[in-house]
Amino acid sequence: MDLSHYGAPNFVIEELVPPKLLENHGSHRCLQLLDHRIITLAQFNKDYLSAHFGEEIKVIINNYKWGGERKLSGLRPFDCQIGSSLSQHKFGRALDCQYKRGVNGEKIPADVVRDVINQDPESWLNAGLTTIENGEFAPTWVHQDIRATGLDHIFIVEP
Ligand SMILES: [Zn+2]
Repeated sequence: MDLSHYGAPNFVIEELVPPKLLENHGSHRCLQLLDHRIITLAQFNKDYLSAHFGEEIKVIINNYKWGGERKLSGLRPFDCQIGSSLSQHKFGRALDCQYKRGVNGEKIPADVVRDVINQDPESWLNAGLTTIENGEFAPTWVHQDIRATGLDHIFIVEP
């Protein structure tokens, strides 16, 4: 199921929801567990970064649909042992993203994307992003979430 109706035409539900939850509850119920802003933030990542780098950028969240190993990079079930017990992922408000260039498939390091975000925080805040994780704890991915912070800048969280 693609998410164009939810403002993310380049994404499918599997990229945001783990396979077991989807199997057990179906896409309709699972979508109700996601904050709609996290869906549009996924699309914003693709659109903003593609414009920034001047070529299509692939945003990798869950990739199990295509045989990859990532399945807990969006929503996580409450009994998930990965990450913290009150992780934003469990509330449908977080993404762990990796990035590749569309043309040659070259990976874009997480630190490079964090720099891009930090150079234009206003655009990302407007897209709903409030928080990214310190790169020391997220070396190969960019954790983004939309928690309420009350701040006018992007909050850098340490787990
Ligand atoms: Zn995360």
